[in-house]
Formats: sequence, C-alpha cells, structure tokens
Amino acid sequence: MTARAGSTRLRWGGATDVGRVRSNNQDQFVARDDVGLWAVADGMGGHRGGEVASEIACDMVARSFDRHTIDGLVEAIEQANNAVFRAGASDPDLTGMGTTIVALAVVEHDDDELLAIANVGDSRGYRWSEGELDQLTTDHSLVADLVREGSLSPDEAAVHPQRNILTRVLGVYDDVPVDAFAVEPRHGDRYLLCSDGLFNEVPEDDIAAVLRRVPDPADAADELVRQAREAGGRDNITVVVVDVVDDGGRAETASAALGAGATRATPGVPPRSGAYADADDDQPDTRTARHRRVAAPPAREDGGDYLDEDDYDEPGRRAEGRHSRRSRRLSWRVALFVVLIVALVGGALATIQWYGRSTYFVGIEGDQVAIYKGRPGGLLWIDPSLVESTDLEVDRLPPSRRTAVENGKEMATLADARHYVENLTEQADQLNPPVTTTTTAPTTTTTIPPAVPAA
Ligand code: MN
Repeated sequence: MTARAGSTRLRWGGATDVGRVRSNNQDQFVARDDVGLWAVADGMGGHRGGEVASEIACDMVARSFDRHTIDGLVEAIEQANNAVFRAGASDPDLTGMGTTIVALAVVEHDDDELLAIANVGDSRGYRWSEGELDQLTTDHSLVADLVREGSLSPDEAAVHPQRNILTRVLGVYDDVPVDAFAVEPRHGDRYLLCSDGLFNEVPEDDIAAVLRRVPDPADAADELVRQAREAGGRDNITVVVVDVVDDGGRAETASAALGAGATRATPGVPPRSGAYADADDDQPDTRTARHRRVAAPPAREDGGDYLDEDDYDEPGRRAEGRHSRRSRRLSWRVALFVVLIVALVGGALATIQWYGRSTYFVGIEGDQVAIYKGRPGGLLWIDPSLVESTDLEVDRLPPSRRTAVENGKEMATLADARHYVENLTEQADQLNPPVTTTTTAPTTTTTIPPAVPAA
C-alpha cells in the first residue's frame, strides 16, 4: 500500500500474530496512510486489559493526529494516554492496564517534510538504510537503563529475565513523557515499527537480512513475523514496515552534497522527556530534526539541580551524558553505603551472637543449681541453653551466694562454672550436710537457717 503526503511517497505493510504461547493477542497496529501515520502498541494488563489498552491507544492516536507536526504527534500520543488512563480508571476490570506505543508520522517541519517517530515503552522504531539497521528509539525499560548506566551489556540485556519491566507505560498515569524526534525521509530507507515479540526472538542481523532480501513491505512484515514464530513465538508479534519510495528528490540532492564532501548525519540517542528544545539551530545540516524533550532535572534534597543551568539550556546528548554520569556516581555511593550498612549490621549481629553465646553462668533449673551457656535471662533472640545439671539443691546454697546464683553467676568458661559449683557444694556441705542422708527429718529441716549465716 502506498501513501503520498506532499512530495514524500511511502509504501507500507503490517502483520500481527498472537505467537505460539499466548492465548490472546494484546498487540495492535494502526495504519492511516491517508494522513501518514503508523503505530504499533503492545498492551499489558490482566484479563482483557492489555488488548483494550493497545486498541484504545491505536484508535486514539490515529483520531487525534490532526496537526501534522512533531508536536502534533506527541499530543496525539498524550491524548491516547488520557484515553487509556480514563478507561482504566472507570472499569475495575481494566484497572492498571497500559500499553507501549511507537509511532511514525509524516510531519511538516520548517517547510520540510519529515518523518516523526515517537515512543513510550519498549516497542521499537528501527531504520534500515544502506544495508544497516539502526534502532532509532530508546527503550523505556529497566534493562535499557542498566545498559545506559553501563551495568549491563546489550547482549546481557537481550536475554535478561527482567527485560520486560518497563519504566514508562502509556495509560497507567494521567500524564506520560513522550520521546519524539524526526528524520528526513530518504528514498530506499525502510522503517520498522515492532513490538518486543519480534526483537526478543529474532536477532537484529536476521531482521536486517529480511529487510535486505524481501522488497515488498507487506511480505517483509509477514516474513519477520514468521521468523519470530519459528524462533519460539513466546510473545505476541507485531511488525509494520514503511518504505520511502519517493523523497521528492532529497536523496539525489544529498548524494550530490556527499560528493561535495558533506557528511551524512546519523541520529543520536533520542532524548528522554520534559521540556522541548529544537536542535536545528546547533545542527544545521543534520538529516535528523531533533525534537528534544529533556528531563526536567529532579530537585535534589540540598536544593541543587542535577544539571547545571547551561546544560539545561542546551539539552540533548551533553545533558544526558552528564545526567547519567551523575547517577552512576550516585549509584556508586548508594552501593558503597549499602555495603557498609550490610557490614555494620552483619558485624553487629555476629557480635551479639558471639556475646550472647560466648560465656557460661551458674543458675537454677527447677530446684537444682545448673550450668548454662549464654547470658543470664538471655540476650535478644539468644536464649541460654542448659549445659549440665548438678546435684546441688538451691535450698542448700549458702545464703550469701544464693542471690548471685538466682540472678545467674557468669563464668568465662565451662571449667570455671564447674569449679564455682564445686565450691558452692563444698560450702553447702559444710553449712548443711545433705538432707538426703538424714533420717531424722524434723531436726534436719530446722537446722537450715533461712536468714542467719553460720559463718
Ligand atoms: Mn510484548
């Protein structure tokens, strides 16, 4: 199918498939070649939430795209966010549903016709150009953040078990930052919009090979879906291929310029989110019109900003670089802090454990004197344990020692504790010969003076 908007002529094809594991297809794509808009959405949310979210998003972005500018595309996606959010808020079955979105649109920009690309989440926009495949969008996912931080390699991220965790989703909050930028359409370039069901299954080299081999965009989309199924099809798969078949002579002009020594600019890392800034001023000859939404710097507790003011005024790569360097330094500190806390807590626990278990005491078990390991009365969670009972009855203890034993007389070693018991027994025997040997009970019992020591 072809679309003409101004001087740019595009041809496109799309395919979506439930895959081989899932029971329903929560992916959706929309193609409006009459206005020059294509989008892929990958919904999520229990029950039917995922399907509903991606459907509302595709429907709403197509209906709201009436201003054919980069801003207009961003606004259409914001409208889609509102629509999904409202639907989720009004129906308990749909609460918390959300969706990714990646959209490509023909837009007017400075009297030029460009292709705007916008995204939220981890559905991707790629460009295949002169045999090379480039991911143009930035994934809003946990693993993508870790790759940017340098904590994960792209290869590790590609197979990471948590790669489906998104840091930005459409429709979950009443507002969402949208990344958007624009590129110049060039004859022969192919744009690919896809859900993660494609790139999680098919390596980018193989995706590029299909785009090189299969000229018809609809056939290419079908072939990519087929390969994703063949590779496992563990997720829904959606692919839209948009080919630039006429760029209004732009490519010829550019080749002439190339011959004259001009270099072909390639798009850099698309910006994050926040306030707009146009980079055309500092990059006059780029084929990439930047529509930067740069993160408004979060205020730190000390009142300072993460970005210097001049960085903030000149957003883009540099600000982004600073930001990530800062957060890496920050995460180093956080890591060090965590390690110290763990060491402190671990050390404290070990010390308590050691202290609680290191010594012995002589105490009372029932009516008998006994030896325990631990601290009298226990220490936090560490209860003393009985090591050995003795034959010495509490009643026979010399009164001067009785309180000490009742409170638990601490001894450094088991030998000390035994020695202490031996002394106690000796003293008791001297004071009051063992009751059990006496048959004349009445006199014996009265010989135990409760309060007055004999010595
Ligand atoms: Mn998916």
